[in-house]
Amino acid sequence: MIYNDQLYTSFIKQKIDALEKMTDQDNPYTRIVFSEKFYEARSWLKNEYQKLGLKVSTDEAGNLIGLLNSKTDTDKVVIIGSHIDTVPSGGRFDGIAGVVAALCVAKYINKNDINLPFNLAVYDYLGEELNDWGTSCIGSRGIAGVLNKEILSRKNKSGLVLKEEIDKIGGNSELLNKPLAVTKNILACLELHIEQGKVLEERKIDIGIVRSIPGISRFSINVKGQAGHSGTNLMNQRSDALVTASEIISFVNKLALKLSEKSNQHFVATIGKLNVYPNSAAIIPGLVEMTLDLRATSQIAREEFLNILEKEILLLNKKSSCKTDIKNIAFAPFVEMDKSLIYLFKNTADSLGLSNNIMESGAGHDTAQLSRVAPAGMIFIPCKNGFSHCPEEYAEASDISKGTAVLYKMVTNLADQSSNKT
Ligand SMILES: [Zn+2]
Repeated sequence: MIYNDQLYTSFIKQKIDALEKMTDQDNPYTRIVFSEKFYEARSWLKNEYQKLGLKVSTDEAGNLIGLLNSKTDTDKVVIIGSHIDTVPSGGRFDGIAGVVAALCVAKYINKNDINLPFNLAVYDYLGEELNDWGTSCIGSRGIAGVLNKEILSRKNKSGLVLKEEIDKIGGNSELLNKPLAVTKNILACLELHIEQGKVLEERKIDIGIVRSIPGISRFSINVKGQAGHSGTNLMNQRSDALVTASEIISFVNKLALKLSEKSNQHFVATIGKLNVYPNSAAIIPGLVEMTLDLRATSQIAREEFLNILEKEILLLNKKSSCKTDIKNIAFAPFVEMDKSLIYLFKNTADSLGLSNNIMESGAGHDTAQLSRVAPAGMIFIPCKNGFSHCPEEYAEASDISKGTAVLYKMVTNLADQSSNKT
């Protein structure tokens, strides 16, 4: 092994331990974007950047950047980063591992006095997790120029307007109507992330090299029935919205299973959010609002799924006294990672003696947004039992350290490549 595993591991552990304390104390680990705890973690990170001698700035999209300037005069930049926000009652590693790994890389590039022919930027992408404004990846979408006026003007439950929050944290929402200027100079965007699945752990593989990130679509499905007294309405007189909703949930589950087997590609569908009205033990449910989350690497399988589901809903509308409608509320397209970066990741992991596997991502990531405007690549490291978005989420610091070693070596390999070109 040609990297100092011990040094990386203790640095990573120390930083993760520090960040885990910045949580809503009643619901560990909660650090929602723009919350007080999020601001606290941002100041902490700013301080970490400064301690490493990185130049701190916030870009128009509210991403927090620590820049290690090349001694050569250049505008070119390699970005490494992830996110420090969490879902409610989330984990200590999702996103965080990637930011800490990036810090570690910058620290040792600096310490080992390596002169890169490009600037190296550590990024904390603003608000990666799905938020109250019904969007995710605020910062990386901002870089890619795809935060449109409608999204920026959305208000959350507390009446806060998204663009005002971006401006408050140091961004400039007026300038988000096109890709940020930095995109012209990006040589590569690299991200390390926990797998959030079990493949690497079960197969005892050190590094997953991401080939693609699935298209993610979300739909709202509303079922309207008729609320009524649960004692006086006989069974054949009811329009129970929850009963119809449960048929749809089972149908979605079975259809997704069938299509994932048929397409032999990543295909998952989940109805994970349900609002039942009036939600009372003695009242027949009159309305159910559900959110369907659909993730697919195959556009054909996605279309097939939606066609069949729409037909099923039409059929249900005919035979049941409840009325169901389905509406698309969000879409992020399927993206493939940069092929030369996949190749370089593979060679790099091989050269470090780390076992690796090229694989699909199941989750969405900032890197998916960045790949619209720059060469982007991503690696996964194993996490325990595939747990994620829950307090049990866990990754060994030594595993993050292996991924960090790959990132470090990628940066120096990219430096060799770009020096050879000039
Ligand atoms: Zn994440």
